[in-house]
Amino acid sequence: MSRFNIEKFRSHFPIFDQKSGSKEIVYFDNAATTQKPKAVLDKYAEYYSQYNANVHRASHQLSAKSTSAFEQSRQLVHKYINSKHLEEIIWTKGTTESVNLLSQSLGHLCINVGDEIIVSQSEHHANIVPWQILAEHKQAILRVVPLTDEGLFDLDVLKEMISSKTKVVSFAHVSNVIGKINPVKDIVSLCKQHKVISIVDGAQAIAHLQVDVQALDCDFYLFSTHKMYGPTGVGVLYGKKELLNKMPPYHGGGEMIKKVSFSGTTYNALPFKFEAGTPNISGIVAFSSALSFLESNSVKALFSYEEELTKYCYQKLLEISSLKFIYPTSPHVPVFSFVIESQHNHDVATYLDAHGIAVRSGHHCAMPLMESLGLDGCIRVSLAGYNTFDEVDHLIDTLNSFSNSESYTSFSDASIAPQSMKSEKASDRIIHQFSTIKGWDTRHREIMLMGKNHPRMDSAFKSESNLIQGCESSAWLSYKVDNGLYQFQADSDAKIIRGLLSIVLAAFNGKTKDQILAFDVEYYFECLGLTQHLSPSRANGLKAIVEKIYAISKE
Ligand code: PLP
Repeated sequence: MSRFNIEKFRSHFPIFDQKSGSKEIVYFDNAATTQKPKAVLDKYAEYYSQYNANVHRASHQLSAKSTSAFEQSRQLVHKYINSKHLEEIIWTKGTTESVNLLSQSLGHLCINVGDEIIVSQSEHHANIVPWQILAEHKQAILRVVPLTDEGLFDLDVLKEMISSKTKVVSFAHVSNVIGKINPVKDIVSLCKQHKVISIVDGAQAIAHLQVDVQALDCDFYLFSTHKMYGPTGVGVLYGKKELLNKMPPYHGGGEMIKKVSFSGTTYNALPFKFEAGTPNISGIVAFSSALSFLESNSVKALFSYEEELTKYCYQKLLEISSLKFIYPTSPHVPVFSFVIESQHNHDVATYLDAHGIAVRSGHHCAMPLMESLGLDGCIRVSLAGYNTFDEVDHLIDTLNSFSNSESYTSFSDASIAPQSMKSEKASDRIIHQFSTIKGWDTRHREIMLMGKNHPRMDSAFKSESNLIQGCESSAWLSYKVDNGLYQFQADSDAKIIRGLLSIVLAAFNGKTKDQILAFDVEYYFECLGLTQHLSPSRANGLKAIVEKIYAISKE
């Protein structure tokens, strides 16, 4: 096996040439989407500048070229996952669309009142909601297989659950939160014994494992190309030819027909029967470059490098005593989910972000899993082939320094507790304070410090009516009016949000309705660097708080 050259591999990704502030970008959100190699970016330019034309339809040369590149990409996927027939590869927009296609088409084909569809507890919402919609529509029943203590699909429970009523079992090869490989072959073989259709959501597996759909023997295998160094907006639905032939189309339109007439329409052959309308031609063509890029870098060597990185990262994370994995034992692919004791997930994630490290915090589109674990969410660190051992070390150092940051002191001359300040100048003082601090990581520390000092709200005020909609984590706002002057009180379970609440209240507390409505909040946030640096979800949370204050003062 050829040795994996990480420096060379990483050098193909232009995004890593830039910095996050003064720091190198450490991208650990690969389970959400991977970065793209230059070959993929170049392929877009090549396609649009040299042979942009619609596929399959015209008799001119540009269309012939475009169609050939488009079909070449299908050929590469066919080889990459070892499907028996080329026409078993169907292009979709992504895994989500693939599940929707299956649920609708199989729904017409074989789901009736009282039939059962089985998924697992750890599925991504994309592999739950389409089945719920179908079950509701057909009065079918959605059943849920729980997980073993290690976070795997519990085969023994499936053995008990599967019956003559079961029509479909749809499950992830690898959960996007747990990172462990489910016993696909055993599940599929059990399904076959019971003549049940098996669907494997390969969205997370495809970037880390060599997938052979004939060896797995599943009826369907789905994935999105953006999670394996390819473009967004392209997905693959592999299905066994015999089943696909029996299934009715999902979308109707051009391309998927043989003949259209008001007396009756006939459908095209596979794979086109499921590819209505103009597909994402440029994305599909560019994906061929992602596959060629992977093959040219030796997929085997890449995956074995990832295995080493996974073991290393797991061991290092284990050394942080306050860190609790949501499931014990190492994941099989580099997806690590955990919480830090006594810390809010968003506080940890924003601290890491301020140090140039991109991770995910929240429910990861797996709310039923979080609920079964009694968690609001967790932190997810997910790696890819371009990540390095040094980056893992940086993560560990930063997580350790986060634990120590509890003893923060202010960087500015005058540390303030804005909620207690009634002066109209409170916001000016914050602007002044921030102007003396350079760099987002230091400003972030200051906001965290404000969050730490922010007075907590009595739990009686944390009512449903005081809850602020739009915040990713919970936040509450209450107020009273004395002589026409508004006094707001606010709280959140995340320290970073409490810090932001301090900043917002400093702008509005002790003011009249007219002063509140006249205050230029956008300019204020811009001065503090919030507009440029807050993540979209946090910025939306901040907006929701300000809007609630406006709504109150307009009452
Ligand atoms: N299934 C799993 C396991 C996933 O991780 C994801 C995305 O994170 C999806 C399905 C949905 O993929 P997409 O948003 O590309 O359709």
